[in-house]
Amino acid sequence: MRELMDAKTKARLLEIGKVRIDTALLKNFTVPTAGPGAGNFAFFFRSGNQRVRLGISENSPLIAAEENGEIIICENDRKIVRGRIEEELIHCPDQAYVNLTEKCTFDCKFCPVPKLSGKVKSIEEVLHMIEKANSTGKMKAISITSGVDTTAEKEVERAISVIRETKKYGVPIGVGIYPTKGSTRRLKEAGADEIKYNVETMDRDLHEKLCPGQPLEEILEALRESVEIFGKNHVCSNFIIGLGESDESVEKGIKELIEIGVIPILRPASMHPLREGEIFIERPSAERLLRLTKFLQKELDKTDLDVGAFKTMCLPCTGCDLSPYYDLE
Ligand code: SF4
Repeated sequence: MRELMDAKTKARLLEIGKVRIDTALLKNFTVPTAGPGAGNFAFFFRSGNQRVRLGISENSPLIAAEENGEIIICENDRKIVRGRIEEELIHCPDQAYVNLTEKCTFDCKFCPVPKLSGKVKSIEEVLHMIEKANSTGKMKAISITSGVDTTAEKEVERAISVIRETKKYGVPIGVGIYPTKGSTRRLKEAGADEIKYNVETMDRDLHEKLCPGQPLEEILEALRESVEIFGKNHVCSNFIIGLGESDESVEKGIKELIEIGVIPILRPASMHPLREGEIFIERPSAERLLRLTKFLQKELDKTDLDVGAFKTMCLPCTGCDLSPYYDLE
């Protein structure tokens, strides 16, 4: 059996995305409230220095079970990797990653959040959650994300209130919300250290169809401004793979983002049952993930952009993606 996770095994785990596991083995499992994976049960699996976040499904060809105090994941009765379950702090290990607003007025076709109509947390509630996370002594970063309850502007105000109140913990603060006019400077002035505005896809035609009301050029402009205000190695963007885009358009998109100083996060697409029939999704194969992540790493190598410099949100977490440097040799 291959002992610890390597890039190929992680890519295979991400390709399938889900495992069969007795939930009694999980002390806590996460139900994300933001983004395309919202509402699905998942847990974190750590093997050596690598981590992956896996969904739970009775129909998966991957089976996870306990053996001699470790978790072994098998495919077709073959043991493919061993490791352990990692506990989350809030949403992911080591971070208090809080979604302020679990609903959204936008209607990105790959995202279930607008259909889930979740909770709008009060600022007091969020501050209490972060205080509790800090009291464990394990909080290395605070990350804030948000859907949109009424307007994107109001969510910026709410994020600013949380940032101001949590600077006292002395850990890096990252924020990933919808950009609005002036939001980048105001978030920086409030004390945010890192920022993420998601392009979702760099295929212009797909973007127009899948992300109504959010022109890609406006997001790119907000990212350019973010690099000016936050500096290089403080700005990243989720880039979904598997929406029907070609490898060529992904490679072009990666180059475009890197050129403006933004680190792309290649996120495997997943179909949510609430979006069945509304969108074409093809979860990328392990080979495709490996190929595109290698391309990303090669392009990053040509610049002074450093994935390891990020302290908040998805880049240090690595749970959902095959990550350059963290996962590739
Ligand atoms: S990679 Fe990002 S979205 Fe995935 S679990 Fe980690 S912090 Fe959450």
